[in-house]
This record gives sequence, C-alpha cells and structure tokens, in this order.
Amino acid sequence: DRALVWLRRDLRLSDHAALHHALAQARQVWCVFVFDTTLLDALPRADRRVEFIHASVAEIDTALRAQGSALIARHGDPLVELPALARQLDVQVVHAARDYEPAAVARDARVRGELAHAGVALHTHKDQVIFEADDVLTANGTPFSVFTPYKNAWLKKLEPLRLQPWEVAPRPGQLAPVPVALEHGLPSLADLDFLPTDMAGRLHPGEHGAAQLLEDFLQRIDRYADARDFPAVKGPSYLSVHLRFGTVSVRELVRLAHERMTGGSRGAEVWLSELIWREFYQQLLHHHPRVEQHAFKPEYDRIHWEHGAQATAHFAAWCEGRTGYPIVDAAMRQLNQTGYMHNRLRMIVASFLTKDLGLDWRRGEAYFAHQLNDFDLAANNGGWQWAASTGCDAQPYFRIFNPVSQSRKFDPDGRFIRRYVPELAALDDASLHAPWDAPAIALATAGVLLDRDYPRPIVDHAVARERTLERYAVVKRPA
Ligand code: FAD
Repeated sequence: DRALVWLRRDLRLSDHAALHHALAQARQVWCVFVFDTTLLDALPRADRRVEFIHASVAEIDTALRAQGSALIARHGDPLVELPALARQLDVQVVHAARDYEPAAVARDARVRGELAHAGVALHTHKDQVIFEADDVLTANGTPFSVFTPYKNAWLKKLEPLRLQPWEVAPRPGQLAPVPVALEHGLPSLADLDFLPTDMAGRLHPGEHGAAQLLEDFLQRIDRYADARDFPAVKGPSYLSVHLRFGTVSVRELVRLAHERMTGGSRGAEVWLSELIWREFYQQLLHHHPRVEQHAFKPEYDRIHWEHGAQATAHFAAWCEGRTGYPIVDAAMRQLNQTGYMHNRLRMIVASFLTKDLGLDWRRGEAYFAHQLNDFDLAANNGGWQWAASTGCDAQPYFRIFNPVSQSRKFDPDGRFIRRYVPELAALDDASLHAPWDAPAIALATAGVLLDRDYPRPIVDHAVARERTLERYAVVKRPA
C-alpha cells in the first residue's frame, strides 16, 4: 500500500498515467526523479535540455511541497538508486510511464530485475502516446509501414475512445511527507556539474511553460495548415520540447485538436496529423529497433556515402552554417543558436546533407541529436530516414529538394535568412536566395563581397543531383 512514481519523460503532475495509477492503488505515494549519470555524463557541460529538465523538475517539487510532500531527487544510476530508495521507503510498487527507445527498454528491464530482487514490482503505463506498440495494426495484424493508412486506422480507433485525462486527485496526506533522512532537497545545476545556458530567455519549462505555449497556439491553430511551412512566420506550436519531456499531456493536445477538427478546422486536422506522425515513428522504432543504426529499407545500407577530407570539410561547413546556400546556413545557425529548427528547414538541411553533399544521414542525425532541444530518437531518426529516402514511407530518392527553389518558395521575402545570415541582409530579395548568381551591381550595392563576407556554394546543386541519382542507383541492383 505504498508506491513510488518514477518520473522520466512525464514531467508534469496533471493528466498523469503513472501517478493516477499509484494514487488509485496505494495509501502513500512518493515521486522520484533520478538525474541519470549514465545519460548526463555523456552531455556537454552546458545543455539547455538539462536545464529545461531541472527547471521542470523544480516546478514539480514546488507543487508537491505545497501538498505536504516533496520530490525526491537522486543523482546516480537508476539501477542502483531505485532499488535503494524502494527499500528505504518500503514501497511494494514502482510506477513509471512506458518509454519505447531501445536503450530505455533495456534499462527498464534491468531496473525491473533489480527491483524484483528487493521484492518490488515495476508497473509501467502508457502515457506519452495515445496508441503504442500493437495498438494500431493492419487487418493482418502486422505493423503499418505507410503513414496514410496508419493515420486512418489511428483516427478510426480514436473516435469511440472519448479520451479522458488520467485524473490526479490525491486524498489529503496521500502524497506523503518525505522522511527526513531522504530529504536532501533538489540538487542545483552546479551540483549536477552543469553550467547555466541561455535557456531561460528561450524556453519556458514545466507544465506552466507548456500551458502558455498551448494557449498561444490555440489562437492560431486554424491557420496552421497555411502558416506552418514558412519559417519566418509563427506557424507551428513550438510544443515539441514539451512533448519530449512530457510537460504537456499528449491526450490533452489530441483531445483539443480532434474537437476543433470535428468543428471544421482544417488547421487542427493538419496539426493532429503531425501528432500522428509522432506516434507513427514511435511504433516504427518499437517494431524495428534496428532503424536506430540501419536504413529501414535494407538495400539502402549499400549506398556509398562520401568520406575523406573533403567530406569532413563539407560536414563542418554544414554544421556551422557556411555552405554558401543561405537557406541552409540560416537554418543551421538557427539550430546552433536556439536549439530549435523549423520543420520545413529540417527537411531542407537533411536533404542537403544527404543529397547535395552525399554524406551519410547518420552523421546529420547525430548532429541533430546533440543540438535539438526536442531531440527524440524516434522522430529524429524517422525525419532523417524520410529525407534521405532510406526510411519507411520516405520521400523517393529521385525527388531531390532544390535548396534555392525551396528558399524562394518558403522564405520568399528572405525574412528568415536575413535574421540568421545578417551579412546578406542588405541584398535585394531576388538575389538573396542565390548570391553567387546575383548581378555584380546587386552585390556591390549591398556591400557584399563573396568569399570575403559570405562563401560561394561548396557544391553545385545540379552536379550534386546527378551524382546522387547515380549513388542511389545501387539500391536497384541485386545484392
Ligand atoms: P508542430 O508543427 O506544432 O507539431 C506538433 C507536434 O507534432 C510536434 O511538437 C511534434 O511532437 C510532432 N511532430 C510534428 N512533425 C513531426 C514529424 N515529422 N515527425 C514526428 N513528430 C512530428 N521532432 C521532434 O520532436 N524531435 C526530433 O528530434 C525531430 N527531428 C527531426 C529531424 C528531421 C530531419 C525532420 C525532417 C523532422 C524532425 N522532427 C523532430 C519533426 C518536426 O520537425 C518537429 O517535431 C517540429 O519541427 C517541432 O516543432 P513544433 O513543436 O513547433 O511542431
């Protein structure tokens, strides 16, 4: 009749599956967050995500203290910390939300084993998705590998569900005081050996930060379908980091989107579709964990990507936003400066890395994993494999984004480029997307000298396109 809730990527206290189930079953409930050294030790010493987590966890601690409890924070390996804490609190059950990433699945299996030695059960609950694993399958009982039929089946399953929040309504004292011996308070960022970042001005952590973003987005959701593709426009929700860490409930988002869609909002319909893409990639990773290292379509593992000194130099230019293609450079600088990149731009830069530079998508995927505030293995891998054409229901390989046409189409007046590539700001709209093609007078008027102020393109798109078609042709040959 005592339970522990292990918070991971469900950093909120409302509509919370694990907490709901713990409160339904146990007389006394505590919550713990483990700052997992096995994950944190691999990160740079200043990381916005760590700060986001820290601030979100602090918000939970404050809320629990207002109810006479507190968040128990541990800094170490969950494999050691959880069984020790379970013993100290004498709990019978640890509740947690299910995580589908291969490393998390393996960790949870080991934690389950350790807890079992201590006579404690680990109960996991579906929380971060509406439908997981085998919830949505084809008529033959196999996983979907094409998005549209998956989405249709998903929506069909949603209709009768009448999504209800997982209510969190503790009885007085049920969220129990933390025994003095275990009450160490929340470690500071410095205690965790991390430096502060510029997160505070950029991201609004916690349930409270998510609620603000959601409120703002709901004013704009009807325009989402038209606005979402233009990086200079406030089109998307910016909720991805909150979905990543569970500071917002996906059930609430789906409920709202579905309501508005049924009310005729095209924007809500398209937005709901994006939330379904998120689940599509999660179920894909669950059913095909090999995509973490391999192309979903095995023949695409035969592609020879560029390597050697030039490839290294090209990769560095891509990372640092100095490829000579303004839209690509603006996008990469947005990522480097803010930890966010607009979805249209993620597609453009991923296509550029794989199809203009001929570099392995896994290099780009790893760079994104490092930089993105919203980094999520399933979505990131899915996005990269989509753009590289190696994935499940991906863009066909012969469809190659032209970075200049994409730029003209989605940043027509160059507002986004000018923000992140200020050295080109004075160029006229027509010249901005391809400065190497600009009339000399346009460059002179703007005071831009190519090579000095801004690089010439590191590859020629037309040449690269031909090379890519040859490179990918290997997938059509017998193994
Ligand atoms: P909105 O447009 O408001 O969408 C709402 C939510 O739907 C997002 O927060 C996200 O959770 C989900 N979503 C939207 N598009 C996708 C998609 N294509 N696939 C899966 N989920 C989606 N998204 C991540 O959350 N983490 C990643 O690491 C990630 N890496 C990506 C890498 C590449 C190469 C590409 C092409 C896409 C990637 N995406 C990733 C998907 C998408 O770009 C982001 O989810 C989106 O830009 C986040 O901004 P938003 O919250 O304002 O999105």
